[in-house]
Amino acid sequence: MEQLRFLTPETARRIAAEIGTPAYVYSEAALRAQAAAALAFPNAYGLTVRFAMKACPNAAVLKLFSSMGLHFDASSGFEALRAMRAGVPAASISLSTQELPEFFPDLVKQGVLINACSLRQLERYGEKFPGTEVGVRFNPGAGSGANGKTNVGGPDSSFGIWHEYAGEVAAIAKKHGLRIVRIHTHIGSGSDPVVWQKTSLLSLELVKKFPEVTTLDLGGGFKVARVAAEKGTDLQKCGAPIRDAFVQFAAETGRKLKLEIEPGTFLVANTGAVLTTVTDVVDTGAAGRVFLKIDSGMTEVLRPSLYGSQHATVVVPQKPTGATRDYVVVGHCCESGDLVTCAPGDPEGIAPRTLTEAAPGDLLVMEGAGAYCAAMSSKNYNSFPEAPEVLLASDGAAYRVIRRRQTLEQILQNEV
Ligand SMILES: *Cc1c(COP(=O)(O)O)cnc(C)c1O
Repeated sequence: MEQLRFLTPETARRIAAEIGTPAYVYSEAALRAQAAAALAFPNAYGLTVRFAMKACPNAAVLKLFSSMGLHFDASSGFEALRAMRAGVPAASISLSTQELPEFFPDLVKQGVLINACSLRQLERYGEKFPGTEVGVRFNPGAGSGANGKTNVGGPDSSFGIWHEYAGEVAAIAKKHGLRIVRIHTHIGSGSDPVVWQKTSLLSLELVKKFPEVTTLDLGGGFKVARVAAEKGTDLQKCGAPIRDAFVQFAAETGRKLKLEIEPGTFLVANTGAVLTTVTDVVDTGAAGRVFLKIDSGMTEVLRPSLYGSQHATVVVPQKPTGATRDYVVVGHCCESGDLVTCAPGDPEGIAPRTLTEAAPGDLLVMEGAGAYCAAMSSKNYNSFPEAPEVLLASDGAAYRVIRRRQTLEQILQNEV
């Protein structure tokens, strides 16, 4: 049977009673533990850990990580602005984006670092800031992700400058007097550690072509096990060969490169959960299924519908009977795709789970909901208001609301 990760039944019930459901709950203790593990990533000549903030951009989380010495990877100009509003120093933010905004010069003037992610972005940067330092994101030619939607390297991916265009990059840099000081690659979320290591070595080959590069940023993508059947990445094991490769590179070239990594998932996936209430139990007859309906779903956790991702579901009963039953857990949207217990990797495949017997009014906790959940919900679908976020203090009991529940008025406020 699935277990609660950081909540206790008592805390879950108390939060549900005091602020209602659905609600995201994050654990400060777990956030701190993951950040400490990332900061211990093997490295030869220095390490910067950037939190890929798109995974969980709440200001309270950004502040906590910033206070622990993490820097930030922003995926849009708005994310960079959001981090600065949370008090993150601009110089701790690096922007790698599919859409370099019109206002990028303002960000640069404040100190935000830019990784040009296309030849055109590099041109635009060079025209505005000739004679300065800049980073470049390459597509190293191979990618790996938990699924096709999260693989962002290789010939089928639009992310970064194709590695064969290093000559064009050098030519644009020369034209504008730019110094390419950072090379950045990120090949996908949930990537295979072996492929990650291989592409990291490919990235070192790219660094050889740019003598002024002092930092190699190898992106994120480190897998975590959200459910028992999944296998997480051991950062120590994953990073050791890369550290050795940096040492080897220094021996060959005399260049001691600084390493950057950009975990999103690793830092937050298992540090968050969604607290929901069972609203109904229905079935489709003797040969059918038993469905648990909850007051949440794709409005809070879209990943199952997008990727067939797996989130543990833990029933917290009001009156435990000790009995279990096979259930299909579905969300509250009028959409058959709002299915929580989908088959792994198959958003439409129904995979019943054996859970603690549940009745309307019981709580159901969706685990593994810290990354790409509050950040990536199908917000306001069926006009459900955005759920609140709460941060559980390190003692595991005290908590504070870090985003209030949205109101219907707020959903409507821009309608004219
Ligand atoms: C999304 C993203 C990351 C983080 O990926 P995870 O799989 O969540 O670790 C890192 N770097 C860049 C550039 C990204 O776009």
